[in-house]
Amino acid sequence: MPVPLSSRLLQLLLPSSCALCGGGCAGVVCTPCRDHFCLPVTNRCARCANPLLSFPRKRESILSPQNNSHESTCEVCQSYPPSYDATIFAVDYTPPLDHLVLQLKFSARLPLAPWFAELLRDAILARPSLPLPDLLCPVPLGPARLVERGYNQALEIARPLARLLGVALHPALALRQLDTRAQSGVSPYERAENIRGAFAIADPDLIEGRHVGLVDDVMTSGHTLEELAAACKRFGAARVSNLVFARTPPQRSL
Ligand SMILES: [Zn+2]
Ligand SMILES: [Zn+2]
Repeated sequence: MPVPLSSRLLQLLLPSSCALCGGGCAGVVCTPCRDHFCLPVTNRCARCANPLLSFPRKRESILSPQNNSHESTCEVCQSYPPSYDATIFAVDYTPPLDHLVLQLKFSARLPLAPWFAELLRDAILARPSLPLPDLLCPVPLGPARLVERGYNQALEIARPLARLLGVALHPALALRQLDTRAQSGVSPYERAENIRGAFAIADPDLIEGRHVGLVDDVMTSGHTLEELAAACKRFGAARVSNLVFARTPPQRSL
C-alpha cells in the first residue's frame, strides 16, 4: 500500500530520534520505548477511567448496547453519575509520557499528535464492547488562548484520530463562550466553578440523538469534559464518550 503524502511529509519533518530515549527511530517514539512505557491499562472505571478498587462486589456494571457485555464503574460514578458515559485513554499521565503531552501543548511539537492518535485508536479498539462515536469533537480552546498558542492540541489529535477510526470530525461543533483561566492554574476545588457555563454547541442538529466522542490531550479532574458533556446532553446527544490520550492518576486529580 502506498504511503500517504501526509505521512511522507511527516517523516521528513520528524526528528530521526526517539522523543523518549533519543535513540535512532523512524517514527516519533521507538518500539522498545513504546513497549516499555505505554503499558495496557486495566481495572479502570469504564465511565471515568479512575482505578477500580480490587473488590468486584462493590462495583456496578454498565451494559454496553453493542454486545451486551458489562464493564465496571467505580463507586463515585455510581453515586454521582457524570454527564459522559465512558472514558477511553491511552496512557497514564506519568513521566516520561507527561513530558510529551507538555511538548505538544506548549512547545508546538505537532508531530506528536498523530502518534497520540494512534495509541488512542488502539485503546479504543481494545474495548470493542463500547460503540464507536458517530462524530468526534475536540475540546475547544478559548479564542484568546487559541490566538496565543496558534493551534488547539485537542484538534491536532482529533484530526488523525477521525481518519484512523473513519468517524466524522466536527472541529467547530463546541465553542468556548468564556475565556476561562487554565484549569492547571486554579486550585482543584475551584475547577468546576472555573469551567461552569464555558461551552456552547454551534449546531445542535449535528448531535441530536447521536453518540459524540470528545477528544482531548489529557483528563485531570474531569471538570472540563464533564461541562462539555453536559452541554452535549442538554442539546440532545444520546451518548458522550471521552477519548483522551492521557489520564492523570487520581492522587494528582483532586
Ligand atoms: Zn526510545
Ligand atoms: Zn468512575
